[in-house]
Amino acid sequence: MKAAVLYGKEELNIVTDFKDPVIKESEVLIRSKYTGLCSTDRTLYRGFVPFKPPLIIGHEIAGIVEEIGKSSKNLQEGDHVIIPPVYPGCEDENCPACREGLTNRCKNSIFIGHGVHGGDAEYIAVPSKYAFRIKDSVPLDEACIIPDAVSTPFHALKSRSVPPHIVQNSSNYKNLFQQKTHWLRGKNVVVFGVGGVGGPTVNLSSRYFQAKNILAVDIFDKKLDFAKKLGATHTVNMKSFFEENKININDLSGREKAKAISGLARHISSHFAEDKFQVDCVLDCSGVADTFPVAVETVSKNRTVIQVGWPPRPVQDFLNQKIMDKYLTINGTWACPMNELEENVKAVEDGIVDLNLLVTNKDYTLDKLENAIHDLEGGKILGRATINII
Ligand SMILES: [Zn+2]
Ligand SMILES: [Zn+2]
Repeated sequence: MKAAVLYGKEELNIVTDFKDPVIKESEVLIRSKYTGLCSTDRTLYRGFVPFKPPLIIGHEIAGIVEEIGKSSKNLQEGDHVIIPPVYPGCEDENCPACREGLTNRCKNSIFIGHGVHGGDAEYIAVPSKYAFRIKDSVPLDEACIIPDAVSTPFHALKSRSVPPHIVQNSSNYKNLFQQKTHWLRGKNVVVFGVGGVGGPTVNLSSRYFQAKNILAVDIFDKKLDFAKKLGATHTVNMKSFFEENKININDLSGREKAKAISGLARHISSHFAEDKFQVDCVLDCSGVADTFPVAVETVSKNRTVIQVGWPPRPVQDFLNQKIMDKYLTINGTWACPMNELEENVKAVEDGIVDLNLLVTNKDYTLDKLENAIHDLEGGKILGRATINII
């Protein structure tokens, strides 16, 4: 089959004679139609994380069921499906994480396009229970971004935003996590970094979780304009803010740096003056380490900061007394549990996510995958790019 294979660092070859996958009884063979391009693909391509070559990359997959294993009962040939990038590797979902419902954190997690071959190829074999059917009305060149770019912020917003004391003191805590009565409804949310993941975070906060105000922070005006289309009610360009105030943040340290950061945080929360400057949840989707202290400074007391983007290095000059003093909940998040993925698919099928806006580049084919990675690095892709496999 045709496949995009990494043979080593920056050695990405399109081959036409890669061995077709053979399915087990519990698996289905998927004809991969489109994949979403993720910065993880770039990270692998540049060799920033170890992997075992040869490796077919691509972990945001939408395709069509081509062949069904004997014991696979849930799907039919021709069904449109999406595949989660991370799914449980234990047969009976019986590891400590799976038993607690964290199927996204399974001890034996399978990482498509990293630990096993991915979807930048004509075919991929997956356990049938982890191929999620999606209605034909959702275009596959948009559906492919659901499994990671959309479902990761979906899980973060749904399950990682509510402060523990709110849950503890609720007479019906389950309502806090359901869409119609979700805790975020009518709240003020701040999103740092409007990229492939920050965009969906803004869109879901607005359209699905119905936050009152969504303020997007970035350093590029074009990204902030994009955020407005996706539902941001306010935007702040932090680079312009520092420039206008003649602050060179990179030259500062200690008290001076702390002062500059708190000035920016005050500027952000000033947009919520009518709500007594309340910031209920901050999601850091920037993938930049130094955003974290700004996020901590920006969020209101007794509220939550969620780390959604992968920070590349330790934070400098950060005093974690703030976390204690403000009684904050600092939450990590990781992919999406299988049961929430179903809810996410339904939200898309019901038209509550603007996939057509989130996918901004549809012109790349598998042969142009390397160009697409270069364009992603060069900041030429505003939202998500999708790769046409054939
Ligand atoms: Zn990804
Ligand atoms: Zn498990």
